[in-house]
Amino acid sequence: MSTERRVVTRFAPSPTGTLHIGSARTTLMNVLYARKHNGTFLLRIEDTDTARSKPEFEKNIFDSLAWLGIQSDSEILRQSERGEVYKKYLSKLIEEGKAYISKEDLSDEEEQSDKRREVIRFKNPNVVITFEDIVRGTVSVDTTDLSDFVIARSLSEPLYHLAVVIDDYESKVTHVIRAAEHLSNTPRQILLQQAIDAPQPTYAHIPVVLGKDGKKKLSKRDGAASVMDFKDAGYLPEAIINYLALIGWHPSESDKEIFSFDELVSEFELEKVQKAGGQFDIEKLKWVNREHILKLSDLEMMEHSKKWLPQSLTTLPEWSEERLTRSIPLIRERISTFLDIRTMAEQGEWDFLGIAPTLDSKVIVWKKSSKEETVKHLQQILIVIKDVPELANSQEYENVIMPYADENGRGEVLWPLRYSLSGKERSPGPFEIAGILGASAVRSRIQNAIDQLTNDHAQ
Ligand code: GLU
Repeated sequence: MSTERRVVTRFAPSPTGTLHIGSARTTLMNVLYARKHNGTFLLRIEDTDTARSKPEFEKNIFDSLAWLGIQSDSEILRQSERGEVYKKYLSKLIEEGKAYISKEDLSDEEEQSDKRREVIRFKNPNVVITFEDIVRGTVSVDTTDLSDFVIARSLSEPLYHLAVVIDDYESKVTHVIRAAEHLSNTPRQILLQQAIDAPQPTYAHIPVVLGKDGKKKLSKRDGAASVMDFKDAGYLPEAIINYLALIGWHPSESDKEIFSFDELVSEFELEKVQKAGGQFDIEKLKWVNREHILKLSDLEMMEHSKKWLPQSLTTLPEWSEERLTRSIPLIRERISTFLDIRTMAEQGEWDFLGIAPTLDSKVIVWKKSSKEETVKHLQQILIVIKDVPELANSQEYENVIMPYADENGRGEVLWPLRYSLSGKERSPGPFEIAGILGASAVRSRIQNAIDQLTNDHAQ
């Protein structure tokens, strides 16, 4: 056991696909455990399967981890570069009689090559293996059924079990925190550890992240499954980290759910992670994301918004960064993810920021009011706001307009005002919009509405 050794954890993905959100959760647990115990977290690329390993998947794994802010504490190992190391161990195992070369009967397909293939098998001592698993407790397995399993195709072609055991040993890994699907591999790997005199690490097999049906692993069919899908859907990495910690875990002594990375380092308890698979709840993730959006500074909100707003909006004639700055509270109030900003913009909901609206005369007039009355109200608004400074905030507009609206009917006064400013039947409130547009644009949009109604009237 590893209680006296400095904690070393590792994440060892095979670059055979994009980084799944469940793997990100496993990685996070490795990182949190290492940080909490002042240990080290390592990254190792398991690319011995040359047919299925692809550089683009390796890049996706690196990009995903970088986006989440996760880094290896030391040089990244790549199994494809460690052939000599594995060869040395294999030769030694054979020399010591712990492994042997065996000739295999070929399957029907391979038979044409008329030779019998050689493989290297581990001489199974057929013992009962017992190990401690942080999530599952004590696990005991009789390895007799595993027979003499294959550990390499040749001296230069080691297979997964052997490479993992050697690498974990050489990197002094103390805690193997990995996906539950590897639980059945652990007895074989412990046998190999014993054969090379490596200490046995502590294990933690992390349950799978389930999709909507609560049965199958979360997949693309559930909407999003890989880390980059969530990046593209406008989530914040700190929200993903926070939410991943909440799948199958909650703090023992509070109902706190919003955590920073540093808070997770001290508060997350690997020992309390549920054994059963945890269901991915996209609504909960949206809520967590929104909570993290509320924590962003205005400057950070600006940066994110600029990245997400479409060009169709930011190239409109009246668009300015200054207006965007003033819109930040409004934007923040209305979104759960940054994709929401873009979707709203594409639906024209933010157009009022960049262009004076085209108005429909029929809509300017509140349903219980008349054209004449509406013109009068809008003219009256121009009068009450005449001394409002260019950069007045929404409260300043409210202070001068509200008394008039209360006296003359809120719908009758505020509907035409809001519609004249936004051009939308549904939009943020008139004072909020006015506080963003600036007084000269407010005046000119109100004047446009008056002109349109009076011209109509003349016809
Ligand atoms: N390479 C394995 C995988 O991608 C992980 C092996 C391990 O963590 O021991 O699932």
